Amino acid sequence: VDQNFESLTRRYKGGIHQLWQYLKSELPLFKSKFEGDNKDIKDTIKAIEDRYMAIIAAQKLANKADGLDELRRNESESLKLLIRKRLLHIQNPPECTTARKLICSLRHKYCGFGCQIHHITYCFIMAYASKRTLILDDSLWSYSNKTHGAWERMFLPLSTCNMTNSAIPPVNVSLSPRDVPKSKCDRYGLDDFLVNCRNEQTVYCPVIEKMKSWKPKQLPYAVPEDIAERLGHLHGNPIVWWIGQFVTYIMRPSPRLNYYIEESYYRLGFDLKAPVIGMHIRRGDKIQSEAKLHELEEYMQHADEFYKLYETMENRPIPRHIYLATDGVNVYKDAVSKYSQYTFMADENQDDCRKCFKQDNEVGLQAIAIDVFLLSKTNFLICTFSSQVCRLAYELMQGLHPDAHDYYVSLDDAYYFGGALPGEDAIAIYEHHPPQSQWKEINLNPGDKVTIIGHQWNGYSYGTNQDTRERGLFPTYKVDVRITVAKFPTYPFIQT
Ligand code: GDP
Repeated sequence: VDQNFESLTRRYKGGIHQLWQYLKSELPLFKSKFEGDNKDIKDTIKAIEDRYMAIIAAQKLANKADGLDELRRNESESLKLLIRKRLLHIQNPPECTTARKLICSLRHKYCGFGCQIHHITYCFIMAYASKRTLILDDSLWSYSNKTHGAWERMFLPLSTCNMTNSAIPPVNVSLSPRDVPKSKCDRYGLDDFLVNCRNEQTVYCPVIEKMKSWKPKQLPYAVPEDIAERLGHLHGNPIVWWIGQFVTYIMRPSPRLNYYIEESYYRLGFDLKAPVIGMHIRRGDKIQSEAKLHELEEYMQHADEFYKLYETMENRPIPRHIYLATDGVNVYKDAVSKYSQYTFMADENQDDCRKCFKQDNEVGLQAIAIDVFLLSKTNFLICTFSSQVCRLAYELMQGLHPDAHDYYVSLDDAYYFGGALPGEDAIAIYEHHPPQSQWKEINLNPGDKVTIIGHQWNGYSYGTNQDTRERGLFPTYKVDVRITVAKFPTYPFIQT
């Protein structure tokens, strides 16, 4: 498949989508101007929506008919296998006592499940970058209830090596993050562990937020140079694919967890109900501290749009199914009572169980793990990317399809990885010189390097023009996202 063809196709698909987002958010602002006219702006938006749906449906059908699906699937399988083999190689050294190790500790990671898995993901990427075996120290993991073994009851061991069979020098377990490290390659304040500690056999992976002065280039959003070109052909958002490979490996379910996932999957009828929407509604502590409240109605508007598109494509009514995961009380009841045209799939007593989710025990762990897996197995996610739960499901989803980069709507943030090097790289492809009155918008000249910080979901993005140092809004279609690339080991002896 010609790279240009694939990326240009993605550009026009993205462009049509942005045009729709732009019209949907801009047209209602003209309401007053049309007063007295007997035309209602809502009818115009609806008519545009119908046309937009018809174009996207035709484009999706054309994509299916282009005969390239099998090629894409084969390439996707081959790339996944290559990375999987490399990870298996790193994680299963012939001798645990002599292997070079990177220890990833969950001890000081007092945060939710998504946040902890992302911490391990970052450690694992660093292990891959430094050719070390990742050793998970889950001894005081919040979910273990102060006992060992919760990890392995839920997931496969990450490695044949562990804290006990690896001759790891003891560290003071009571070390708090503020304690002074014993040596520069010990536990904290270790900004440059890839460089200064290159010769140490065992190093601890610092908490990502603590790496202030210097950060390795291999952190997200960089993908390895040796697979970047292939990934650019295959996938619309290579970094999510890359992170997805690590998350998929880390979360390989234990036979016990797998049983529960499969049991829920078939009991809820996932296999018979496609297309299913995965809806994650984060409430609880997040709303008070970190994220804005988005009402159920807003989520449901996107669900309507998704099914309408499907119906346009297939030219028949499609039964509407939503797998609803939430930590909100009454969200499920509310949804069931207000949206009778939808079937909501969730475990019984959904709302009654909300209180157990935040429990740092295995009941809570199993509940969130199953929710994340089931969300990832849906056909489309509607959620807030400010939540690591939904980002995790989105990442896992990438392991299940050749390119699922656009199988989502986020009501707030663009996709991001906490602690990553700043922003996505893009190049301006059209010039943009906003009128003075548009003070929030920045200037672009073709060729300018732009760092995208976030999307507004209305056809505009927010970011910095690195050539002029201006920071502000610009029309998303005027830039082209570039893959950020870094040198990683190439593991040349591993073939697929
Ligand atoms: P974030 O705080 O939303 O970014 O994500 P975290 O995973 O770091 O923390 C959220 C925690 O809230 C999770 O670990 C769960 O304990 C709980 N939680 C949030 N949403 C859900 C959900 O849909 N289902 C379940 N079972 N638990 C949830």
